[in-house]
Amino acid sequence: MPEGDTVYLAAARLRKALDGKTLTRSDFRVPRYATLDLRGQPVESVGSYGKHLFVRTPELSIHTHLKMEGVWRVYEPGQRWTKPGFTARLILGTADAEAVGFSLGLVRVLPRRDEHTAVDHLGPDLLGPNWDAAEAVRRLTARPERPIGLALLDQTNLAGIGNIYRSETCYLRRIHPATPVGAIDDLTALVEESRRILLQAVTSPPRRVLVYGRQRQPCRRCGTGIVVHLLADDPTLSRADRGIYFCPRCTPPPT
Ligand SMILES: [Zn+2]
Repeated sequence: MPEGDTVYLAAARLRKALDGKTLTRSDFRVPRYATLDLRGQPVESVGSYGKHLFVRTPELSIHTHLKMEGVWRVYEPGQRWTKPGFTARLILGTADAEAVGFSLGLVRVLPRRDEHTAVDHLGPDLLGPNWDAAEAVRRLTARPERPIGLALLDQTNLAGIGNIYRSETCYLRRIHPATPVGAIDDLTALVEESRRILLQAVTSPPRRVLVYGRQRQPCRRCGTGIVVHLLADDPTLSRADRGIYFCPRCTPPPT
């Protein structure tokens, strides 16, 4: 499941390729917009909020979401694609670049004035200019009984964390992901930690992980083998994405 840093970096690549340029090609390979043609339209800006990405012309905002498998690639004109063509959902071309969204989970086109409706329900964007830790904490504490590992994934609390960063954040704060939100002393420090990790991932990629995907490998603090558990049977997550990674010694499960 792509996380906020992936979307932020994709927006940066698309901005470089498209921003200020005129579209010479627009190919929506989703039935609803199959006849929409944005050739001749200038791209005014490219932005992201949490895991949502927006490419804006003067009138319209193209709203995409990677969901589980999606990825954006930018090519030179005529360059061979590195993903199967049948998985392309949206192609935006200029005179000197071609941006291709493969396996996008969502492609929508909104009037610019309605773009906010795509993100109004979301919590503060961890990588956004208006990040608001107090608001994120307020939203988290509305359901104090919920395990923090689930609450951090809920984009209506705060936007940008996926399965990797919920495990990483909890590990760094020495909190087991099954701990109820209400039992955590310093939620502000926890959300600021997740922001710090995401900022680090976008300012000095590649992403580095301490626990995610490291089951049976030694904990970097105490050497105990990292374990992976399924936190909850959430049908919106693939089985692989339901795993939470933790050190059973540094962050024992709550009793
Ligand atoms: Zn440990």
